[in-house]
Amino acid sequence: MILVSACLAGFNVRYDGGNVQQDLAVKLVALGKAITVCPEIMAGFSTPREPAEIAGGTGKDVLAGKARVVNRRGVDVTDQYLAAAKMALKIAQGNHITVAFLKQKSPACGTRIVYNGHFSGNKVAGMGVTAALLAEHGIAVKDEEDLTIDNLQQFVDQKTISLLENNNLNNCH
Ligand code: SF4
Repeated sequence: MILVSACLAGFNVRYDGGNVQQDLAVKLVALGKAITVCPEIMAGFSTPREPAEIAGGTGKDVLAGKARVVNRRGVDVTDQYLAAAKMALKIAQGNHITVAFLKQKSPACGTRIVYNGHFSGNKVAGMGVTAALLAEHGIAVKDEEDLTIDNLQQFVDQKTISLLENNNLNNCH
């Protein structure tokens, strides 16, 4: 089973109330090959909400107690992000997830780069809190740019690949 960020699967869960839908994420969910999580919603935040960034490090540092997650108003939301990461891990382990395709740059889901905590648009290399916890537990974490038919070959069977290549979602059974 595959895990995908809910916003990639078309759910309007982003801080601005929108989504960043990717067709392959939608199809994987429709085919029952992927499940979704939105750590920020699981943390109890509403949509829309104040954006948050990791201050003083990356998700790995947050897990180690060396960095914090702070929203644009300066409110420390670290505990909520940590709780959500633990929930996401529990869901992933309960569903035998081996790979997660997560939204880049998010303080929860980012897998390669995250914003640097100054709300200036600048980024640093590193993962979000949930991505870091999943990776620490042996789950491969990838981003939306990795979500291609070629990259999915190793995670789903050939019949699924054929269905993913089919543009008509009504044929997904
Ligand atoms: S990037 Fe992750 S935390 Fe942010 S809206 Fe998407 S699923 Fe939710």
